Amino acid sequence: MFFNYHTHTFRCKHATGSEREYIENAIKSGIKTLGFSDHIPVDFSNGFVSGCRMTFNEAAGYFDTVRKLAEEYKDKIKILCGFESEYSPSLHKEQMKKIEKYSPDYMILGQHYIGEEWEGRTSASQKTDEGLYEYVEQTLTAMNTGDFLYLAHPDIIGYRFSDIAIEKAYTRLCEGARDMNIPLEINFLGIRGGRHYPSIRFFEIAKKVGNKVIFGIDAHSPEDFLHQSAEKKAEEMVENIGLDLITEPIL
Ligand SMILES: [Zn+2]
Ligand SMILES: [Zn+2]
Repeated sequence: MFFNYHTHTFRCKHATGSEREYIENAIKSGIKTLGFSDHIPVDFSNGFVSGCRMTFNEAAGYFDTVRKLAEEYKDKIKILCGFESEYSPSLHKEQMKKIEKYSPDYMILGQHYIGEEWEGRTSASQKTDEGLYEYVEQTLTAMNTGDFLYLAHPDIIGYRFSDIAIEKAYTRLCEGARDMNIPLEINFLGIRGGRHYPSIRFFEIAKKVGNKVIFGIDAHSPEDFLHQSAEKKAEEMVENIGLDLITEPIL
């Protein structure tokens, strides 16, 4: 694995280690292109404070630190800086304007919430077919903006739905991503944590639809770059299902 676009920093309040440690371990693991994509800051106009993202006050320090390290390490590794972002129906446009000044290299989409974050409806806790359909529509709307490089953990919402809904909704999601040429991530955090994603069930649909898939370490600690069994499991999944894996850097 020579590239990874899914890397966090301590600023999101649930990751550990310094940027330098992430970079050193990425180099150790053989990575040639490393993208930082920490959880994007959001200015919630209603006063809501998110517990899982940096504040806008920290964004300048984030870019400054990563850009300086990119320069320092440029002979060893290519380092990019962007964000992992939710799609907020009401704030997205404004949000894009607010981050413009940092010139992020890219954004990946991670739809951890349905509707708006302050409503507290996490994707992973949805239990009704309607919740699944809503997740898929919101994700498609998000991808359709053209602002996202790829979709992180596409099946984060899980499988607590009817078989018919799972087949129908995930097929729709996969077809949309395929038509917009947006890769779907095989998320290593899910593998490391023994979570319900990435699942064979979802990626068999992606295979049928003809999606491109991409590996994402979703590093929340420098050690995550050295977790070889996660990579091995992901490779087995690709092989067993016959997935179309992206093997060259896309940025
Ligand atoms: Zn995170
Ligand atoms: Zn992430």
